[in-house]
Amino acid sequence: MAQKRTFTLRSLRGQLTLWFSGLSLLTLLCVGLYVGRLATQQMAASAGAAVHAMALTAADLLGAGLREREMDIVLLSQAPHFTRGDLTHPDLLLSLLRRRALREEFAWLGVVDPQGNVVQAVDGLLQGQSVAQRPWFIAARSGVYAGDVHEALLLEKMLPKPPDGEPLRFIDFAAPIFDHSGELVGVVGAHIHWHWVTQTVQAAFDQRARDSGAEILITNAQGVVLYPQKMTHQAQLPAELRTGRNQRTTQVRWDDGLDYLASVVAVDSRTSRNLGWSIVVRQPLHQALEPAHAMRNQLLALGLLAALAFGGVALHLARSFSRPIEQLAEAAHRIERGDSEAEFPAKGQLMEVEQLGQSLRSMTRTLLAHERELEAVNQSLEAQVLERTEALEVANRELEHLATHDPLTGVRNRRHFDGKLAECFAASRRTTLGFAVLLVDADHFKKINDTHGHPAGDAVLQALARLLNDAVRSVDFVARYGGEEFAVLLPHTADGDTALVVAEKIRSTIAHAPFPGPGQVTVSIGASVWQPSDSGAEAVVQRADAALYQAKAAGRNRAVLSPQA
Ligand code: GH3
Ligand code: MG
Ligand code: MG
Repeated sequence: MAQKRTFTLRSLRGQLTLWFSGLSLLTLLCVGLYVGRLATQQMAASAGAAVHAMALTAADLLGAGLREREMDIVLLSQAPHFTRGDLTHPDLLLSLLRRRALREEFAWLGVVDPQGNVVQAVDGLLQGQSVAQRPWFIAARSGVYAGDVHEALLLEKMLPKPPDGEPLRFIDFAAPIFDHSGELVGVVGAHIHWHWVTQTVQAAFDQRARDSGAEILITNAQGVVLYPQKMTHQAQLPAELRTGRNQRTTQVRWDDGLDYLASVVAVDSRTSRNLGWSIVVRQPLHQALEPAHAMRNQLLALGLLAALAFGGVALHLARSFSRPIEQLAEAAHRIERGDSEAEFPAKGQLMEVEQLGQSLRSMTRTLLAHERELEAVNQSLEAQVLERTEALEVANRELEHLATHDPLTGVRNRRHFDGKLAECFAASRRTTLGFAVLLVDADHFKKINDTHGHPAGDAVLQALARLLNDAVRSVDFVARYGGEEFAVLLPHTADGDTALVVAEKIRSTIAHAPFPGPGQVTVSIGASVWQPSDSGAEAVVQRADAALYQAKAAGRNRAVLSPQA
């Protein structure tokens, strides 16, 4: 039966899968994070460069525009029909109108006499009114003037409002008009719509830049935001941006709490009076870095997918690696349970596993062969032990027989008789059943020896033993007591007459039995029975011996019972 294959982390396939997918995930995460970081830096650098380029372009465009507008005014002030000194001449108005027709941004264009009264102006605006207190007029009497942005004062009600709803604001240009003798004859002044300024800088800004969240700001020399309108007077540049006039892109936190990539470029207007403006382009950092973050997230997702794919491949590989090993383990398990038919797989994808299988196969064969050999040896050893044990038992039995039997006649020997006698004596004392002893002695045996030879005597002794054994009960005990003398123990025989009957039967049997050689042999028998007063078993034997003596004395071939006390 196949072992249940469970997926645990401790298994080969679990470990391989874990390590493969873990390492690939780690590698791809590291690569993803590193590449993401590089991309972020790269992206920040290139976004920064783009921001700076936009600021440079806007500053250049605005600088050049401002320079051109100033040059317009300067050229007008130096035109011959201006320098002639007649500010009321219609040619002057014609020039002003032509200029205005070329440059729509001129909201107001006019000539002012040295006392500050407007002599002529396009659309007759402010004509006859005094601008003597206006800074541009005061400044332009002595030289070319380019002025900061200001809200419309006198013109507020005369001009249409800008379309974006912003307040009407201007920047001023003015130039003195000197006659040929170098005397001041007037001032040419112009108000340019602030709207032109903002459109000029916005021109540096394409749709893509706007989509990237980039914003363009114009600040004055004090770092106050002039544009866009929503930030004017409430927002100042962050301190980091105020320190340098021309600054490459930096990351700064604005007062709205957001981080921006920002670049500051001073507007070099090359006008007579530097306005001190700067162009600031800023782009929210999260928007600038969005592509990099998107790329990093894609890389991480890719890494995750790759780790999953690697894990899958690893699982597949691990499965194909571990299957033959599991088959080996299964075969080993079956062999362990005694299934000698189990086979280790011979073929496998992996050379090492195949070698292991072959080694296990040959090892198993060797072990099984050894086991069979051992079994055979064991069986032969067991047979030998059995044989030896039987021989020993036979020898023991023979030894015991030798120790307890008389070698010539085969009946019990005297030592054994003595033991049996002691047993009977001890038992009689407990039970009072008693016992009897018969001493049987061949008559004139010496004569038989002398007449027929010693071997014939031996044969007579053997015949006597047989006759004795046949004459008594199986419980009775026949022993050779001496040379030609036998003893018979009759257990449970307390009665002397019974003993005498047995003795007589023995005597008679022998007297009538034929003996080869002597033909007839007689015996004399002395009988005695146990008496409770006997102090030892010897007493019973002594009485039987005395009775035997009496039988001999009385003429032999007779049985005599010892008198009982
Ligand atoms: P009695 O009638 O008085 O008993 O005379 P007996 O000759 O039988 O007795 P005795 O004691 O004088 O002689 C016993 C003889 O038995 C002497 C001995 O040589 C013989 N004898 C004892 N043991 C053996 C034996 O094992 N084999 C043979 N053939 N003769 C034996
Ligand atoms: Mg004798
Ligand atoms: Mg004798």
